[in-house]
Amino acid sequence: SSRASQEHGILAPCLSRFYGTGASVQKDDPGFKGHDMLAPFTAGWQTTDVHPLIIEKSEGSYVYDIDGKKYLDSLAGLWCTSLGGNEPRLVAAATAQLNTLPFYHSFWNRTTRPSLDLAKELLEMFTARKMGKVFFVNSGSEANDTQVKLVWYYNNALGRPNKKKFIARSKAYHGSTLISASLTGLPALHQKFDIPAPFVLHTDCPHYWRYHLPGETEEEFSTRLAKNLEDLILKEGPETIAAFIAEPVMGAGGVIPPPATYFEKIQAVVKKYDVLFIADEVICAFGRLGTMFGCDKYNIKPDLVSLAKALSSGYMPIGAVIVSPEISDVVHSQSNKLGSFAHGFTYSGHPVSCAVAIETLKIYKERNIVDKVNSISSRFQDGLKAFSDSPIVGEIRGTGLILGTEFVDNKSPNDPFPPEWGVGAYFGAECQKNGMLVRVAGDTIMMSPPFIISPQEVDELISIYGNALKATEERVK
Ligand code: PLP
Repeated sequence: SSRASQEHGILAPCLSRFYGTGASVQKDDPGFKGHDMLAPFTAGWQTTDVHPLIIEKSEGSYVYDIDGKKYLDSLAGLWCTSLGGNEPRLVAAATAQLNTLPFYHSFWNRTTRPSLDLAKELLEMFTARKMGKVFFVNSGSEANDTQVKLVWYYNNALGRPNKKKFIARSKAYHGSTLISASLTGLPALHQKFDIPAPFVLHTDCPHYWRYHLPGETEEEFSTRLAKNLEDLILKEGPETIAAFIAEPVMGAGGVIPPPATYFEKIQAVVKKYDVLFIADEVICAFGRLGTMFGCDKYNIKPDLVSLAKALSSGYMPIGAVIVSPEISDVVHSQSNKLGSFAHGFTYSGHPVSCAVAIETLKIYKERNIVDKVNSISSRFQDGLKAFSDSPIVGEIRGTGLILGTEFVDNKSPNDPFPPEWGVGAYFGAECQKNGMLVRVAGDTIMMSPPFIISPQEVDELISIYGNALKATEERVK
C-alpha cells in the first residue's frame, strides 16, 4: 500500500505491545511484577508488563474500574450483559433461589423446578420451527460440544456410523473447548493446540466485502458459496457429513452479517444431503439482531440451536441446546436401549442460573425487548456507519445492536495496515482513554452494547468512536 511504505506512518515503536488488545494503559508502574492468573486470551507479556484493567462495578450500560473511572461498555461484557450492569430483578431472582435451593442436579431423572420451567419457556419462545427438548449446559462452548455428541449419538442410533463430519466456516467462533475450538474457524484458536480435530471441515466465510469477485453481486456470491459447500459435501461423500454449524451473524470473527439469500441457498444444500443444521445463536439470540432469534431474521429452520450469554444477561453461567423432536425422539429411544444418555454436567440446569434466566426472559417479554432494540438500532447503526467515508475505514457493518469496523489502507480489503502499526489497538486505546471499552481484534473493532442502552448513551458511544477515529486517522496519516 502507498501509505504503508511511508516512514512517518508508523504509529509508535512496539505500539501493540504498549496498547495490547485494548488492555489498561493506566498506571505505568515500572515495579509491576505481573499477577497470578493465567488469563484467557491474554499474551504472557500483557500479564507481566501491563497492569490489567480491573473492573469493579457495573451500572446500566457502564462499568467502573478500581480507580473509579467510568466506561461505556460497548461490548456488553463479552456480548452478554443484555440488561446492563445492575438489573435488580436478576439479583432478586438469584437471591431467592439461593435462599431456597442453591443446588440440585438434573441427573437420573431428578431435577429442579427452575430447570423444568426454563426448558418449557425456551421451547415456547423458539418459534422458527417446532422444537422438542432442551439440554442445559454452562457455556456456549459446552453447548457446541454437546451438539457434536448429540449428532454422533443420533447417527449411531440411526445406523449411520460414517456420518460424523462437521462443516463449520472460516472465521466462525464456536468456543474454546477442544471440540468447539475445532469448529471455530480462527487460526489463533488452532495454532499450537493440535486442532482442529480431523472430523471438522471449514467452508467459506460469507464476507461479501472481503471475498466477492469483481462484479459479483451479493446473490451471486451466496450462490457461489452454496456451490462450494455442495462441492465439499460431494468430495467428502454426503454419507460422511453429519452437520453444518453457523452463527446467523458471525460475531467474534469480525461481525459479519450474511449476504443476501445466503441462508436460503445454504439450507437448500444441507437439506439435499441430509446434513443437520446447527444454529449457533450464542450471540444472536434474544433480540441482538432485532428479532428474538437470529433464525427468525434469516428464516433458518435449524435442527439444533446453541444458546448462552444473553440467556441470563450474563449474570450467571448458563447455556442451552434446543433439540428438534426428530433428534430428541431418537436420543430417547437409543438411550432406552443403552440404559441412559450418558452426557451431562454437574451444573447442567443449575437452579440459580435457571432462575436468573427465567427472570431474564420474563423481562425481555415485559419490556418488549425486540421492539426496544429496533427502536434504538438505527440510531446506533446509522450513527456509526456515517463514518464509513474515513480514509482508514474499509467497512462498517452490522445489524440490530451489533457492529464491526474494519480498518484498512486505501479502502481496500487487500491492503491491510502493517500489524506493527497497531491501528486497531490504537483506536481501542483511544476509546478506553475517553471512557469506552470496545473489542479489538487486530484491525477489526467490535461492539454489541446492552439492549437497554439509551439514545443519549448511543450518542455518547458515537461521539467517543468519532473522536477515536479522528485521532487514529491523524496517527496513520
Ligand atoms: N458460540 C458463539 C457464537 C460465541 O460467540 C461464543 C463466545 O463468544 C461461544 C460459542 C462460546 O461461548 P463460551 O465462551 O460461553 O464458551
